[in-house]
Amino acid sequence: MLGLLSVLLAIATVNMLATRSQQVQVDGFEPLRIDEVQAVDRLSEAIRIQTISPQDPASFDPAPFIAFHQLLERSFPLVHAQLEREIVSDYSLMYRWPGADPSAAPIILAAHMDVVPADDPSAWSHPPFAAEQAEGFMWGRGTMDDKGALMAILEATEAMLAAGITPPRTVYLCFGHDEELTGSGAAAMAKLLHARGVEAEFLLDEGTGITVGMFPAVEQPVALIGLSEKGSATIELLVELEGGHSSAPPDQTAIGILAAAVARVEAQQLPGSLDGPFRQTLDTLGPEMHGPLKLVATNLWLFAPVMTRALLASSTTASSVRTTTAVTVIEGGVKANVLPPRARALVNHRINAGDTVERVVAHVREAVDDPRVQVTLVVGNEVPRISDAQAPGFSTIARAVREVNPEVLVAPGLFVAATDARHYVGVAKQVYRLSAFFITKQDVPRYHGVDERLSLEHYAGMIQFYGRILQAS
Ligand SMILES: [Zn+2]
Repeated sequence: MLGLLSVLLAIATVNMLATRSQQVQVDGFEPLRIDEVQAVDRLSEAIRIQTISPQDPASFDPAPFIAFHQLLERSFPLVHAQLEREIVSDYSLMYRWPGADPSAAPIILAAHMDVVPADDPSAWSHPPFAAEQAEGFMWGRGTMDDKGALMAILEATEAMLAAGITPPRTVYLCFGHDEELTGSGAAAMAKLLHARGVEAEFLLDEGTGITVGMFPAVEQPVALIGLSEKGSATIELLVELEGGHSSAPPDQTAIGILAAAVARVEAQQLPGSLDGPFRQTLDTLGPEMHGPLKLVATNLWLFAPVMTRALLASSTTASSVRTTTAVTVIEGGVKANVLPPRARALVNHRINAGDTVERVVAHVREAVDDPRVQVTLVVGNEVPRISDAQAPGFSTIARAVREVNPEVLVAPGLFVAATDARHYVGVAKQVYRLSAFFITKQDVPRYHGVDERLSLEHYAGMIQFYGRILQAS
């Protein structure tokens, strides 16, 4: 036994020492000429317009969206003189920029103009819609999610037009207006593109930011290009029994039956797995790691079970290796002395690559294992098709990241939130997700939370990043 173990360890060590960095090598590049002060001014105007997707779609206010369109027209005169622009679904914007080679498959850059509300402005260090600049950041709702990207894409486009640079491929810019609700604007633009027979080489939408200090055993910042995103399934557990007076109750009321079912669902989580894009993340980052984790990550043939167990141990890492389970709603009971006729719970799952909505429903039904509990799927979204990290679009994005930020490592991954990108799988061969600003663990709660902010230095880098993608063949 000991002999076998030392042989395996010896093989693993040899493997580890044989791994080489898979990072694309880049040279310097000619940056686009940008007036950074003016670019930041334009971004602040964009932040001040409150293009809110309200929790209740009935209270949607179109006025800020029209003001936003007008701001773009004012801010980017060359874009609006030289690109074709269509208003889709009333407020979404789609631009077409013919490339030098009309026979080459186009590319699509996507972003969204709507933001979530800022429910508690007094909790912010700077008011959410004032676009104040302090400590090298612009503070405000939408700086990270996702007006920063939208404005950076247009800055790069305007600068290329000013310099007389034509993109090699035809470019579509697709800016949705309701990503934070249903993404109907993106869906409508995708439908239009499909009807016109467009099949893009790749699409790039928002995703994980370039993470700093968030990967164990990796020193450098890491840009995870999302090959797909998690799916979701909301499942209802419902118990309906005869009511009656509580003076002669059965052993279990509807609430007791439901509570026991909920406890079983929580106790029987879906299994973890390293399959899917996360495996590719580890394969790519393994050679860049240091310490004992490097031995593990570069030898998943041996250590996959150990690695999976370690990742499942913490809720922050568990979500990257399994379909998550969260009981989010429970209701039942009417009065202290009345048996509840009905008790109901909602369980929200975020589906990992490799799982399906059907499999999650079957798992929950099995865990509940009680015919008195009705298990029903309320809404389900499958994991979108997983894009190819070997396709040319991936290296175009990876190259752009490292040209602008040579210290950053690039790896494929799975994005844990939902984006407009999922609507475009039918019109692009590959769909990638990445936000090109840097984030630390402390920045994660800023998404949809208080004190959302964007580093002005990173903003300048974002403009160059999109410029590199637009100019790549
Ligand atoms: Zn977003």
